[in-house]
Amino acid sequence: MNKIELQNEVTDINDIFLADDINHSWHSFTLMKEYIDDNPIMITNSSGCWLYDSKGRRYLDGFASMWTNIHGHNDPELKEALASQLNSLPYSSYVTLTHPKAAELSGKMIEIAPKGLSRIFFVNNGSNANETALKISFQYWQHMGKPEKREVICLKEGYHGSTFGAMSAGNSEIFHKRFKHWCFKSISIPAPECLEYGGKVHFSNDNESIKALEELLVKRSSEIACLILEPSIQPAAGTGMRMQPPGFLKKIVNLCREFNVHTIFDEIFVGFGRAGHLFACNMDNVVPDFLCLGKGISGGYFPFAATMTTEEIYQSFYADYKEGKAFFHGHTYSAHPMGCAVVLKSIEKLQRLIASGKFESTVNMFGKITTEFFKNHPYVRQIRQRGFIFALDLYPGKEGKDFPLSDRIAHNVSMLARTKEVIIRAFFNGISFVPPFIINEEEVRFLCQRTSESIIEYISKHSKKS
Ligand SMILES: *Cc1c(COP(=O)(O)O)cnc(C)c1O
Repeated sequence: MNKIELQNEVTDINDIFLADDINHSWHSFTLMKEYIDDNPIMITNSSGCWLYDSKGRRYLDGFASMWTNIHGHNDPELKEALASQLNSLPYSSYVTLTHPKAAELSGKMIEIAPKGLSRIFFVNNGSNANETALKISFQYWQHMGKPEKREVICLKEGYHGSTFGAMSAGNSEIFHKRFKHWCFKSISIPAPECLEYGGKVHFSNDNESIKALEELLVKRSSEIACLILEPSIQPAAGTGMRMQPPGFLKKIVNLCREFNVHTIFDEIFVGFGRAGHLFACNMDNVVPDFLCLGKGISGGYFPFAATMTTEEIYQSFYADYKEGKAFFHGHTYSAHPMGCAVVLKSIEKLQRLIASGKFESTVNMFGKITTEFFKNHPYVRQIRQRGFIFALDLYPGKEGKDFPLSDRIAHNVSMLARTKEVIIRAFFNGISFVPPFIINEEEVRFLCQRTSESIIEYISKHSKKS
């Protein structure tokens, strides 16, 4: 139906590939009709915070290539780590074998993670990291002679990935509703409220959430295996980037400990500095029973993820064959040597960035400029910012009625922004900035300026129409 016929004059080999893409490929989380109507962009090169397309146009990567990129694109050190691994051992299996980079990375991760997490299980993506934690928790309670502990608590509008177990533990209308019939049931509690930007918490309330958890645990903890949540920020809740107040995680962990329920922190988005701390659990100085990592772990240079857990949980699986306690779970490319090599280098670079003070000063600069720019913007109802995460909610100004979601306002604004050299992500009526950590002041201003222009241009035109 969408079949693209190539023009006689093909000036660019990438036009042929683009035709193949449009005619034959199916993109993740993408409404293909909109994607094709919006004129697909073929990204061919990258450097620092910038992406370049086949036509030679540039784009500031305002969503860090789906929240993965922390050190910028085309980084020489990360490329060197990959190249040198490629020249010694591109791949060897981790099933009953090991290799130096995975071994070294295991040690490194335990060194940097909150004390108490002493074991790491490597996987390939965030959904798998969460599924791994869930399955270990379920099996652990069987080892403990408590097979009835098998329910999962989650936060309202949680998102933990696309696979069935991850969907079951999630609670998001758009992502999960359609597949509910095939998912296991989980129990959701309300998410807390918090508003932070420019380095200040302006409002917070977690009473309802904590009360609901407490009541649930009092009644049913003997049936509950674990609680899973995205600490600090739920990226796919509300209009995007829903925040949790400082202190909330501590209350959660303390309550769950008291009632013998595992805590699983899905830090796939917030981990590795994204939310302003190396790990989000550092914000409240707590240690979950499971820490799930993905996205930023490899800085966007290799598909990689991991699940960390405690020695106590690991030890419950450590037994002779006849006891049948092996964890029969995993993925073919787990602990890929190329991934391990680049993750190690990425951690080294992140530690350097933090030690130099540059990490903190960039967060402050990012928070200050985004706040100044959008706090009193005529079409912005609310802003939120923590670490390298900024979100704004669009509205038609004080007099207007809220934009119906079917108008695709934020989406269309983000598409207009592409013509102004920035790539930003829209979610319902929200727009977010999730830049690489190396972004400089000029680039943050560029991101804000071009986004603001797109908002004003699109909304003023749209308001006249309707
Ligand atoms: C992206 C994401 C996932 C899923 O990770 P994949 O690598 O896409 O499977 C899970 N949880 C959170 C919070 C995420 O941001």
